[in-house]
Amino acid sequence: MQRVYNFSAGPSMLPLSVLETAAAEMTNYQNSGMSVMEMSHRSPVYQGIIDEAEKDLRTLMNIPDNYKVLFLQGGATQQFAAVPMNLMRKNKKADYIVSGQFSKKAAEEAAKFGKVNEIASSEDRNFAYIPKVTEFSADADYVHICYNNTIFGTCYDYVPETGDIPLVADMSSGILSRPIDVSKYGLIYAGAQKNMGPSGLTVVIIREDLLGDKKDDIPVMLDYRVAADNGSMYNTPPCYSIYVAGLVFKWLLATGGLEEREKINVKKANILYDFLDNSKLFKATADKEVRSLMNVCFVTGDADKDKAFVDAAKKEGFVNLKGHRVVGGMRASIYNGMPVEGVEALVEFMKKYEKENG
Ligand SMILES: *Cc1c(COP(=O)(O)O)cnc(C)c1O
Repeated sequence: MQRVYNFSAGPSMLPLSVLETAAAEMTNYQNSGMSVMEMSHRSPVYQGIIDEAEKDLRTLMNIPDNYKVLFLQGGATQQFAAVPMNLMRKNKKADYIVSGQFSKKAAEEAAKFGKVNEIASSEDRNFAYIPKVTEFSADADYVHICYNNTIFGTCYDYVPETGDIPLVADMSSGILSRPIDVSKYGLIYAGAQKNMGPSGLTVVIIREDLLGDKKDDIPVMLDYRVAADNGSMYNTPPCYSIYVAGLVFKWLLATGGLEEREKINVKKANILYDFLDNSKLFKATADKEVRSLMNVCFVTGDADKDKAFVDAAKKEGFVNLKGHRVVGGMRASIYNGMPVEGVEALVEFMKKYEKENG
């Protein structure tokens, strides 16, 4: 079987050249005589790998010096708890904007640790839009948003102006898709398996003043201060996932960085949305002004027709187009690893399918 166009929401496609480098280095990394999987994380050669990954991520995202980059485990879901455990410190309160399934889960988890104010929600229209919020609770320890809503295919088109209150963003499915101004955020977190590399790695970018002291009342593995003071190696880090993410960072740098990546991602998304806007069979579900570049959600309006389309597409090598189980329909996740040709080929197939089945 040849490689397919994989529209999975995560884990998702990686650039072929990254996979080929990893394959070539699989059994003997740069003449070390061993695989990265077999290496001590305390060895100089591995220290080089993690240092370079951090340096390249800092360059790519233009991360200011007063931010720490942490390479953690547990997925974005673990951050739903780690964020309140670390940051609900002064007033034990936080504001949450609920714009989808993941931000809802984040708010529910945070409520175990303090008072959560759900200050806005777009659930009234099945999360087809992003709430515009300009006012926040004066005593909130932080404001939490989900930058790109993987399941509903929406993305923030503005950065909430929270003033002195730290803004925390789950960027799992939007990180590295375009340049963002890190200095507008107190903390950014993202599971790697959407747009950075294999699962097992979670990246946290945190402003230093939010690290606080070492905490006696939370698990050591969830304490950002401990991770920061130990260079993300209080214990064994997800060594291989960090290595592959590092290869992805190098690939992004070599292909023009995030400005260039944004152009490619806009091009890919437009190919798909333009087709959907002119289709009689398919319809995009997210409001136009907040459409995600990464997750394109669409429906026929009939569950049986949706299923028939997903099955037919799969036979042609366009896989994982089924929408998330809470929304149904279709979702084409077109992260950085999806080439323009993959989107063009999908649209060609959809045109043909519409002609034959419309
Ligand atoms: C996938 C995803 C999650 C869950 O990530 P895990 O790493 O599986 O815990 C959380 N938030 C967003 C926005 C996601 O896309």
